[in-house]
Amino acid sequence: MITTVCVTGASGFIGAHIVRDLLEHGYRVKGTVRSLKKAAQYTYLTSLEGAAERLELVESDLVAENSFDLAVSGCEYVIHVASPYILDVKDPQADLVDPAVKGTLNVLRACEKAGTVQRVVLTSSNAAITDEPEPGKAYSEKDWNEKSSLTRNPYYYSKVLAERAAWNCMETQKPGFDLVVINPTVVIGPSLSSALNTSNSILKALLDGEYPAIMEISWAFVDVRDVAKAHRVAMETPTAKGRYLCVNQTVNERNVVEILRQAGYTHKLPKMSLESGFGTALIKLMSYTYPSGTGTYLRTNIGRTYQFDNRKIKQELGMEFMPVEQSILETMADVIQWGHVKAETK
Ligand code: NDP
Repeated sequence: MITTVCVTGASGFIGAHIVRDLLEHGYRVKGTVRSLKKAAQYTYLTSLEGAAERLELVESDLVAENSFDLAVSGCEYVIHVASPYILDVKDPQADLVDPAVKGTLNVLRACEKAGTVQRVVLTSSNAAITDEPEPGKAYSEKDWNEKSSLTRNPYYYSKVLAERAAWNCMETQKPGFDLVVINPTVVIGPSLSSALNTSNSILKALLDGEYPAIMEISWAFVDVRDVAKAHRVAMETPTAKGRYLCVNQTVNERNVVEILRQAGYTHKLPKMSLESGFGTALIKLMSYTYPSGTGTYLRTNIGRTYQFDNRKIKQELGMEFMPVEQSILETMADVIQWGHVKAETK
């Protein structure tokens, strides 16, 4: 008997890689997408190896009650990835919090109804761990973000509330399945579709001249292929328990720019340095001219370095991460290949 896994948000950057990884490992997959009306837009999924025989796409919407019942029915495992990942929205409650929280509860209710599900693996985020890094602190699975709100990093807030809702549901409902959570950091890597993910757009923006200078800012990167594997291993490992920070390495903007220059990229990479107390203060002032989500992100990240402890995922799930340089360079090649970086800048 082939094991069937439901992957919500199969169309997304991470979801599509999870589908690819599961098909490669012989699973049958039921992937949810928002609309099947334009099925042709999902050829990047339906053309994956093994998809013709083992992939079924099912229509589900996070905020519609009972929307996941069909997708989850008959599945042994559910990987709940779908959630809006957008920094700037008009209405944080309706555009971020509602789909994140209601969607998570809808999926868990569907799993209870199905009666076949053994484990749910939920894609949470480092956003549920911390809102802004405190200097010198290495964050782990024990930490919870208690600072974000509807007006301060609302995307982060949506991830905190969704993960808390999931753990609370497990405690109060005591369903017949267990929950394992993956908390990835900034996910980069090649995209299976032509869409530009929010996290890959950080690197694209560097090539495209959107960064005025080299600032004191860093990103805790992890490759999308490692993130996909982590979800599968969390699903397959009977002893997996609790949350898993899924992070490779923190790299600052100067190092990313150096990696790109050494690889021969010139484009519009920033040259001027604003890596000083003055520079950080200036960027904080400038951040008020940005859309509010990006502005708060800048103010809570500039002048700080993330430190995350990835020992739990390495020890308990045996995860090893690909070299971050490889990840950065393959992301760059990919954003160019998809045409996200303007041709004349090369
Ligand atoms: P994408 O935007 O690429 O994918 C988001 C997915 O969620 C898409 O499949 C999207 O469907 C689906 N979705 C959004 N809103 C709804 C809705 N109302 N109903 C049904 N489906 C919906 O983002 P990522 O792949 O990067 O993110 C996937 C998950 O990973 C999210 O939970 C995100 O919070 C988490 N994450 C991402 C990180 C990153 O750096 N990328 C880091 C940490 C966590 P559609 O294609 O139709 O829009």
